[in-house]
Amino acid sequence: MPRIDLHLHTTYSDGSLPPTEVLTLAQKVGVSALAITDHDIVDGIPESIEAGARLGIEVIPGVEISSRYDDRELHILGYFLDWRDPVLSTRLAQLRASRHQRNPRIIQKLNELGLALTYEEVKALAGTDSVGRPHIARVLMEKGYVQSAKEAFDRYLAQDKPAYVPRQLPEPAEAIAWIRAARGIPVLAHPTWVKESAEGLYRLCEKLKAEGLMGIEVHYSTHKPQQTAEYLNTAKRLDLLVTGGSDFHGLTKPDIEVGVGRGGLKVSEKLLEPLKKAASIS
Ligand code: AMP
Ligand code: ZN
Ligand code: FE
Ligand code: FE
Repeated sequence: MPRIDLHLHTTYSDGSLPPTEVLTLAQKVGVSALAITDHDIVDGIPESIEAGARLGIEVIPGVEISSRYDDRELHILGYFLDWRDPVLSTRLAQLRASRHQRNPRIIQKLNELGLALTYEEVKALAGTDSVGRPHIARVLMEKGYVQSAKEAFDRYLAQDKPAYVPRQLPEPAEAIAWIRAARGIPVLAHPTWVKESAEGLYRLCEKLKAEGLMGIEVHYSTHKPQQTAEYLNTAKRLDLLVTGGSDFHGLTKPDIEVGVGRGGLKVSEKLLEPLKKAASIS
């Protein structure tokens, strides 16, 4: 059974490879269908669909939206959405604007810590409107201030580190509603980020389902077998769809590969049918 990968980033957000190169890697490992899920932007989808047609890979339009719940981030993936929807487009533009509000404040903090870089340099490297901390990390790498993106996050950019600046983020319910309004399927990304007991995660997913959530990303590059089993159980108990993907970014997550994650990821093509069915009736 061929594999699929429903969580991939490209140069349209903070991935380091353009869609065509991501799809070429996908083809090499036998991925039959994939979703491009750039942060807060859908501009990479036409190019991805075109490359998919050339390479014989089915491309599902997607997006990933960050939201804030208490003091942590929940990421909501959206699949099969109408990426040309003008209301969605306005909302995503607002999310990108909140990045441009935050990023210069991160740069200022880095400058105060003695690191010489400008937001102009970061925007030039990003080459897209969806500018994120991984782009800042890459400029720090290029200037030799850090050896890896991980080091940039561990020393400066992660929450509770000295150059961290929170971004204005929607509530999970808003992100879910925006995806639903564009006829997409909202899915909770990488539940391992939800630092909760199994019962805590169950209750959170129950609440999110009441707000319109339709699925959980059960299969993910860094999920341990026990976590995958727990999330699968949660999805079954709540009658939520099951998805999976690598969260490939290229350079900023060098240990994660398209389609296979850290080597052990295998997302079955069988998961597609229920997703498509849900998309056709939503
Ligand atoms: P932002 O969306 O600009 O707030 O940046 C958050 C993004 O940075 C996440 O979606 C990840 O893609 C990435 N990220 C977070 N932590 C790390 C890390 N330790 N190493 C590399 N990338 C990270
Ligand atoms: Zn990212
Ligand atoms: Fe994410
Ligand atoms: Fe992601």
